[in-house]
Amino acid sequence: MAYAVEQECPQCGAPIGLEETDHLLQCPYCNVKSFLFAHDYYRLVLPHNAPDKEIIYAPYLRFKGNVYSCQGQTIGHRIVDITHLGTSVKGLPISLGLRPQAMKMKFVSKDTAGSFLRSSLGVADVLARVGKQVSGSGHLFHRAYIGDTVSLIYLPLYVEKETLFDAILNRPIVKLSQSEEGLGLAAMSHTKWRLIFMSTLCPQCGWNLEGERDSVVLTCSNCNTAWEAVEGSFSRVGLAAVPEEGKNIVYLPFWRITASAKGIEINSFADFIRVTNQPKVVQKEWENQDMSYWCPAFKIRPTIFVRLISQLTITPKDFKTKETVPRQGLHPVTMPQSEAVQSMKLTLAGSALTKKKTFPLLPEIDFAVKDSTLVYLPFEDKGHDFVQQQMRLSINKKALEYGRHL
Ligand SMILES: [Zn+2]
Ligand SMILES: [Zn+2]
Repeated sequence: MAYAVEQECPQCGAPIGLEETDHLLQCPYCNVKSFLFAHDYYRLVLPHNAPDKEIIYAPYLRFKGNVYSCQGQTIGHRIVDITHLGTSVKGLPISLGLRPQAMKMKFVSKDTAGSFLRSSLGVADVLARVGKQVSGSGHLFHRAYIGDTVSLIYLPLYVEKETLFDAILNRPIVKLSQSEEGLGLAAMSHTKWRLIFMSTLCPQCGWNLEGERDSVVLTCSNCNTAWEAVEGSFSRVGLAAVPEEGKNIVYLPFWRITASAKGIEINSFADFIRVTNQPKVVQKEWENQDMSYWCPAFKIRPTIFVRLISQLTITPKDFKTKETVPRQGLHPVTMPQSEAVQSMKLTLAGSALTKKKTFPLLPEIDFAVKDSTLVYLPFEDKGHDFVQQQMRLSINKKALEYGRHL
């Protein structure tokens, strides 16, 4: 489940409740919108109950996402939701357990009083541990982490009589063998830690950018552009849409990633169809068509994700696109392009009909991304499902809604 966070409005100071997966903050009092940007990941503190103590914060790495593994001849997956101690100080609990779910956290800011223990465990270390929890049988050829939330959550502590206390429960945790100074306090002045509140005006035309609270890409319907946050400012994203007439149309976003491959002969769509052994007659024009890998630009359950990336990628597309933002029915982009790129080997693995032959090639393959475009495809609302007629795709509406809370 998503953790709750409380943040003051940068404009009027009113408290705003949000979830850890939110990026677009809209103040219910003054209506001002800001886009939250962190250089690496969100840093959050659990509230303490020790007003007169000098607080020391211990870091916990939080990972919530999907781990996929190509092992033996199957693609395994698992939804992982953990917190793991990120420092080597002995005696601290290894996980935060249910605590982050029970309390409202705050972002680390210049007003957060206290000092911070250095984080000695990197994201890669935690991911390696997470990966080991996904058990399969046979040789492991590839592992991917997709659709994840990584953040640092700080547990408040204080020292009294050479004992480390939990500052939430005011209970002793461990007798210190080192001096307090020996805990290796990290300096708080790290500029990278500061959360940036970005104005949501279109950098090109000054219009208000649109999106939902969990959107990672915002759109401008005035000048038909799409934007993602890079290093604290908005950077333009390639955009295309397939306009559709009619009622009950919703537009779901997908990343179309054009790439060349090393370690395997895939330089055109025709190559991909051949390499993965599709039961299709290779059309002449496919030989000159750059290879594009498709990936949902929204979070969705792993089983559906694996089906979609393959189905989208192997289906020939004969529709025309326009560089435009559809006027209504836009589903938010909740998966950034940087994560979609992680899915390319899975697409290949999932599409291959000869897994025994293809899986051993995976470790040697290296993709070079040439272009990525956000493509809005029209789906018709058919009650339980959204259906894309040209590609014969159907996505369960409930699964799509559930995906927003993954
Ligand atoms: Zn406000
Ligand atoms: Zn604009």
